[in-house]
Amino acid sequence: MNCYMCGGQYNEGITSLPFKVDDNSIVIIKNLPVLQCGSCREYLLEDAVMEKIDGIIGSLNNHAELEILSYAA
Ligand SMILES: [Zn+2]
Repeated sequence: MNCYMCGGQYNEGITSLPFKVDDNSIVIIKNLPVLQCGSCREYLLEDAVMEKIDGIIGSLNNHAELEILSYAA
């Protein structure tokens, strides 16, 4: 699979990304496994990772303005 932006090769990596929960809340998830393009740094989340993120965000019941979580936890 090649980068949809530039056609470069994806490499597996670990990063932290912010996700918007609602208009006032952002969650930063650390230690996320991503595929990142070696050429333009565009990244891609695999479906299984995306599903787990949805679960993590869905399980938050008090929406702080900013919350930092670890993917592996
Ligand atoms: Zn690229």
